[in-house]
Formats: sequence, structure tokens, C-alpha cells
Amino acid sequence: MEGPATYLSDYFHWFVDRDGRHWKLGPWCCTTKGVRFRDAVLVKGYPFFVGALGSLRALQLQQFLDESKPIWVKPGFRYDEETGMTPRTDLSILFRALGFAADHHRDDRRKGVGASPYINHPIAVASELVGAGVEDVEVIAAALLHDTVEDTWATPEDIGAQFGPRVQELVEAVTDDKSLKSRERRRLQVVHAPDLDPGAKLIKIADKTANVHDVGHDPPASWPLQRRADYLDWTERVVEGCRGVNDTLERRYDNELSSARYRVKQALEAEGAE
Ligand code: ZN
Repeated sequence: MEGPATYLSDYFHWFVDRDGRHWKLGPWCCTTKGVRFRDAVLVKGYPFFVGALGSLRALQLQQFLDESKPIWVKPGFRYDEETGMTPRTDLSILFRALGFAADHHRDDRRKGVGASPYINHPIAVASELVGAGVEDVEVIAAALLHDTVEDTWATPEDIGAQFGPRVQELVEAVTDDKSLKSRERRRLQVVHAPDLDPGAKLIKIADKTANVHDVGHDPPASWPLQRRADYLDWTERVVEGCRGVNDTLERRYDNELSSARYRVKQALEAEGAE
């Protein structure tokens, strides 16, 4: 029953109707065999419809829920053939998040000499999570979206309306206040890290892993070596406050950090020899 990932969705409700069919109702997905309501979300235990579905559907579902027997299922529950659910249905939110991020970052490039399209970064962050066994689609979707509020015209409300309240919270938790000076923003990241939600900690570590990799392999051209070294030290302090959520991910970060430090050290030595 328990998968390798610790942080699957907060909760799923299962409902059994009078014909014995099982219904799943959770953020953004309400499904039974052959019938699917894609745009349902659970907010504080009540189903809400957003987007294209009309109020008639919402009423029908409400009526259906009233007449049905709710079953509480603990986090970590995995779909199976019996219920007609497969993890594949979760691809919907991931591809919508990917599309949203790609659209919002469409004019952005990474700071590295390679100036690769910005979207490669959120994809790298999400890939780190998947590679570390994280299966919570809302955390992975939030990873894809993690820089959209900080760096594009997207608002937290846009994220909430399209991806539900939990994804919004996760994205907000890893978004810096851009009205503050960069030094203060960095200080606050270190201070706030230990208080982050476990899902946000996962995203933070994955984000720092991807950034540390870039600083080691494709650093911003304008960054002197000392600035790169300082940046690496700072990420270590942020990650320190996030530890304890996923061993594999934390080891990945440690490896990237050692490798990036080695590269910066070598470059510093080469500079000193000139
Ligand atoms: Zn990032």
C-alpha cells in the first residue's frame, strides 16, 4: 500500500454509490469506471467545480455525494485495477502544469553562457523529484510551476484556479518576495527553510540541486568565481533546513554540490596560477 514516496496527496475521498461503484474525489480529479469529472476539486472537504463544467453537473454530483457513503483513505493509497484508476490519469495535471510553465517562461532564458530556454530548469527540478521516487503529482506539478509566480506574470491565484489550492500553496511557499533586496531574500530562504511544508522542502532541495549543477557546469557568464563559491555555500545553508524529507534527493544534492565545488576550486587555482 505504501509507495516509496512519502508525500502523496494529502487526502483522497472514496465514495461508494448504491451500485457499489467506487468513486475517487480529490484535487482535480473525480473518477469512476468510464466516467470522469476532470475539473472537480476538494476544498475543505467539499467538492467544487471550476472551469468548463456547468452548475448542473455540480448539483448532480452534490446530490450523488449526499446519497453515497464516503470512505476515508489514508495518504499513500495507490490506485489499482479494481477501482479502474491508474496513475496515468495523473498525467493530466502534469502536462497542464508543463504547458502553463512553458507558456509563461516562453521568453526567458537561463543565465548560463549556454542561455538555454528557461523551461529546461523547471523540467530539471521536476525530474530530480521523480528520480528520487517522489510520486505526489501535486508536488511535481508545483515543481514545474515553481518559478512562474516569481519570474513571470502568473499570480498565485492563477495557479490556484488552474491547479487547486495545494499546488498554489506549494508554489507560494517557494516564491521569494521580489520587493526585497536579493541579499535579504537569500537570508529569508535560510531562515524559512525549516518551517516549510514537506512538499515545499522537496521542491527546494530539487531546485537547489538543479541550480548547483548549473553553477558547476554552465555558470552565469557575469559571475566571478568567488560569487559562484558563495552561491554554493548559501544553497548548502538553505538545504540544511530542508533535510529529512528524502534521502535519495538529499544525496543527489550533496553529490552535485561536491562536483560544483570541485570545478570552482579548480578554476580558482587555475586563475591563481595565471
Ligand atoms: Zn528554480
